[in-house]
Amino acid sequence: MIEISGLTKDYAATRVLDDIDLTVDAGRIAAVVGPSGAGKSTLARCVNLLERPTSGSVVVSGQELTALSGKRLRHARQQIGTVFQSANLLRRLTAAQNVALPMRHQGLPDAEVRRRVGDLLERVGMLHRANHYPSQLSGGQRQRVGIARGLALQPSVLLSDEATSGLDPDATRAILDLLRELRDDLGVTILVITHEMDVVRGIADQVAQLDHGRIVEEGAVADVVRRSDSPLSRALLPMPPASAVDGRRLWTLRYRDAVSPVWLSRAAQDLGEVAVLAALVEDSGAASVGRLTVGLDPRLEERRVVEVLATYGVAAEPVTALHAVAGDRTESAA
Ligand code: ADP
Repeated sequence: MIEISGLTKDYAATRVLDDIDLTVDAGRIAAVVGPSGAGKSTLARCVNLLERPTSGSVVVSGQELTALSGKRLRHARQQIGTVFQSANLLRRLTAAQNVALPMRHQGLPDAEVRRRVGDLLERVGMLHRANHYPSQLSGGQRQRVGIARGLALQPSVLLSDEATSGLDPDATRAILDLLRELRDDLGVTILVITHEMDVVRGIADQVAQLDHGRIVEEGAVADVVRRSDSPLSRALLPMPPASAVDGRRLWTLRYRDAVSPVWLSRAAQDLGEVAVLAALVEDSGAASVGRLTVGLDPRLEERRVVEVLATYGVAAEPVTALHAVAGDRTESAA
């Protein structure tokens, strides 16, 4: 569990993080998003105390880190694994040797190191590359080895700072699957710093948007999605390209409660063709929540569309040109 409260970080006269409160429960994945320069990396570095906060507290698994220094801080840090954008593997060491490094520093016995390295490389699907050097691995493979190294000391918390930046979609998907497994199988608490909304959609339980060093919006992803049109909510559901719209009128639909699984086909009987252009749907127990962008016949009367969909428990709102532009801007800035 990570509990950040009242965290402020100044560099000389510049306040880079301003009164940040953020809690990530054990075994959850939280994403921190925001434009470049918002303070995301600084926040990650304050969580493992690579940067010392100017004020505020950082509690990881019940331990207040800002109160520690020297040996006790180094010891406490072992429960926090980190993965960075470029895995920063040592070039002269093999994948296995890179993963072993934190354990060697710890002075663990050889047999134990070998066993754990094998387990870790297997977990990240890289056992078959154990004796390869970083230059012989793809970017995605290096990232996996970096994650294995981040897990070497069996941390309860993993910080991932832009770990999927610059990876192709397949490699990104593999890394996100791996992070999800670490949460689900090992109960690792994960803080993901990212500028990619796909990462948030793919794995995050909760999301916080940082802007100019402040959290401007946060919440469980499902709740943010259900919110009335906030910038983060819009960014989580990108607007479709004009080519896909093809003369239809755009509507944003939101489920506010449990809906019948067949609402879409029923609604289509009343409204004609419903083109689903973007969708974010989450199942949480019996209820599913979601947001969709759909295209409807532009000749349909606005009031009728709202009424028909309301009978299925779906809130409908026409997308104005302004919404679409703001959504695009949020997406590219985030
Ligand atoms: P992000 O990760 O969101 O792109 P950063 O946390 O890297 O943002 O940076 C936030 C702000 O803090 C930026 O304005 C950056 O220039 C500044 N900053 C980051 N590290 C330092 C540092 N060591 N000294 C001074 N300013 C810094």
